[in-house]
Amino acid sequence: METAEIRRRFLRFFGERGHTIVPSASLLLDDPNLLFVNAGMVPFKPYFLGQETPPYPRAASVQKCVRTADIDQVGKTARHATFFQMNGNFSFGDYFKERAIELAWELVTKPVSEGGFGLPESRIWVTVYHEDDEAARIWERRIGIPAERIVRRGMADNMWSMGVPGPCGPCSEIYLDRGPEYGRDGGPEADEDRYLEFWNLVFMQWERGEGPAKDGYPIIGDLPARNIDTGMGLERMAALMQGVDNIYENDEIRPVLDRAAELANRRYGANPDDDVRLRVVADHVRSALMIVGDGVIPGNEGRGYVLRRILRRAVRQMRLLGVEEATMPELLPVSLSRMKASYPELEQDWGRISSVIYAEEETFLSTLKSGTQIFDLAVEESRRAGSTVLSGAKAFQLHDTYGFPIDLTLEMAAERGLTVDEEGFRRLMEEQRRRAKEDAAARKSAHADLSAYRSVAETLGRSVEFTGYDEVVSEA
Ligand code: ATP
Ligand code: MG
Ligand code: MG
Ligand code: MG
Repeated sequence: METAEIRRRFLRFFGERGHTIVPSASLLLDDPNLLFVNAGMVPFKPYFLGQETPPYPRAASVQKCVRTADIDQVGKTARHATFFQMNGNFSFGDYFKERAIELAWELVTKPVSEGGFGLPESRIWVTVYHEDDEAARIWERRIGIPAERIVRRGMADNMWSMGVPGPCGPCSEIYLDRGPEYGRDGGPEADEDRYLEFWNLVFMQWERGEGPAKDGYPIIGDLPARNIDTGMGLERMAALMQGVDNIYENDEIRPVLDRAAELANRRYGANPDDDVRLRVVADHVRSALMIVGDGVIPGNEGRGYVLRRILRRAVRQMRLLGVEEATMPELLPVSLSRMKASYPELEQDWGRISSVIYAEEETFLSTLKSGTQIFDLAVEESRRAGSTVLSGAKAFQLHDTYGFPIDLTLEMAAERGLTVDEEGFRRLMEEQRRRAKEDAAARKSAHADLSAYRSVAETLGRSVEFTGYDEVVSEA
């Protein structure tokens, strides 16, 4: 079943059950704490917070999402993309826990011939918040899932909030056991790639107080109206429905992977390291397409920096696969061909989107070229001095003057059997940051409104938690 069909079925199912179909919002909704929309509920936040009255009691959507925090997992796990789409159904003070569970179960297990996804009941596992006896009871008594496949998990995994005082609630996640060829026995807690989470049901029913963003905060009361917020990963559902090993092999992403393999003259499946690289390329090319599609241009802070990092990572992976020339002109059109049916605006805006991405690739390739010469000289110098360490000052110069990200320097050094004085590098970075801050403080003025993004950008290098579903507000 193609991704497009999964999307259609999801929306038809909830449309037929009284949900208003709402188109995806842009990835760039205005939210000072969020660079990109990272969950289906984000556009509905004002309704959940009671700031606006929802024009409908129930809604369903397929929302574009970006989760930068997952970037290091991409290609290594079976299930993490930087850009992905979240199918969601929402109730604003309308139906609640029991109905939400019933609806999810019905859609997931209904035979394919009747408009459902036909997943085998005997391989479905669920998790519930450890104190949510109500949800556990519904799954066991009402739905009939045996108790052994209902797993209770703590606050960190199964409690949702926006990261700040306000609505919160327990959640219940639905998993498919893909079988022993995918990993260890023992349920979702043993192996989250074998037991693949594809849907999260959030029961917004309590109010939380001050405390850490993720767990350990107090629950201080009940909400006046109880809401439902769910998120089903479209890419994960596609992987399950298509019987492929991971999300990068689904019909929207795999063609890019195949083209990259062709360009690199590699056979996908022949070498595990190359396979990871090919998956990263396929994922990142699509993310770049979607992010530029929504109007971001590469830059040194905020969203522009995220985009730049994603694009450069893709280029670098191609290089590590042995391709030194520009490849975006080959790869991007393949991604477009898979995405344009769902997002026709990409095709209308193709001239702009492609030239932004091709130009960034060219810039980075020439950066790599000039930086690589400096790098090679530095390696020689170290060797001649009988050292196996590249100095922090060199790494800093490569970063500062040639735009070499430190991870690039690290990887290239490792390839030559050298290590890098990372601590020295970080010290110099820190110094530079402090100087910049002092400068900024001195010039403190007109641009105050950009400060939130700037501070996020500053910490980006050190993997900002751009949040999971359960902490929609960035902790940066
Ligand atoms: P995981 O535990 O696998 O990282 P999650 O619990 O962080 O997933 P949620 O925040 O519950 O995910 O998001 C709701 C759904 O969105 C998930 O059940 C999954 O299907 C999908 N999803 C989440 N993160 C990603 C991602 N990085 N790439 C693709 N799909 C994702
Ligand atoms: Mg999870
Ligand atoms: Mg989840
Ligand atoms: Mg996650």
